[in-house]
Amino acid sequence: MNIKRGTDASRDLDTALTESGLQNADVKLYGALASKINRVEVTSSIGADPARIFTLSLQVFALRLFLKIAVKNKMPYGTFRRYAARGDIAGILGTSEIESAISEHYFSNVSVEIADQMRAQRDQRDESLERVPCGDGCWFCCATHRMIDATPADAERIWEAMLASNVPGHKHPNACPALGIDGRCRAYSVRPHTCRQRLSTSKEACRADLEQGIGSSEEHVIHLGSPFDANQLAALLAVCVGAKEPFVNLLTTLRSLRSGASMSDAISKGRRSFKHFDPSSQPKGRIVQPVDLKLPDSAG
Ligand code: SF4
Ligand code: SF4
Repeated sequence: MNIKRGTDASRDLDTALTESGLQNADVKLYGALASKINRVEVTSSIGADPARIFTLSLQVFALRLFLKIAVKNKMPYGTFRRYAARGDIAGILGTSEIESAISEHYFSNVSVEIADQMRAQRDQRDESLERVPCGDGCWFCCATHRMIDATPADAERIWEAMLASNVPGHKHPNACPALGIDGRCRAYSVRPHTCRQRLSTSKEACRADLEQGIGSSEEHVIHLGSPFDANQLAALLAVCVGAKEPFVNLLTTLRSLRSGASMSDAISKGRRSFKHFDPSSQPKGRIVQPVDLKLPDSAG
């Protein structure tokens, strides 16, 4: 794993800024943001345990990568800030060849990749992972929860995918609006990180959660831990650009849209505090960390 130390990474960014051809005002604003990110790294590391410091260094590495890509793409700072404030990391990373590869590697498929690694190493890691039954058409978890964290950008993409789908919605009264009648997510490729991250070791326990209430068999829930948790990165970035609340409850937002609300009204209605995205907080259930998350040597 090749992660550049803070000073090397800052120097890289300075060089990219100098060579970018961006307007002076943009260069200054990006420079100020880079300093803020450095401060986040330093201040959050004070007194933290070594594991937390390592995670934070990976997260700060990712934030610097976002900045560098935006600068390389000559993205004006105002555009970058708008993306950052709505949790739209994919928007910042853009669609050019290298950037989309990084975007896909870290975000679209990050949980799939981690899950693959976990499965490959499950015998050494945790025998219970052999029993992960999550798969196509299994949907209890999509009707159990009252709160699904997503960024406004996620909500917009999910709504678009739902409109493009010709599968009717699921009939369960508590089903996520994106759930199809066939038990499949109608927005699977753009589902939020919260959904990608969650696994269980027991389908029947998930059914019990749905039918008898969450917590009837708490131990079965697994959250795939990752330093590149997209929700935490979106939260960190939003804090750095001074935005307040980059998350919505996806269910509230989609239900409002389904009732005919405009996108901006539906997002306002779903807005929620992101206090619990404090990276030191942990979701309920066991957290499983990836064993060896591969980073491209050229990145950073
Ligand atoms: S978390 Fe539970 S309900 Fe959801 S896919 Fe996995 S086994 Fe099925
Ligand atoms: S967005 Fe898709 S995966 Fe997530 S809860 Fe809704 S239907 Fe399930």
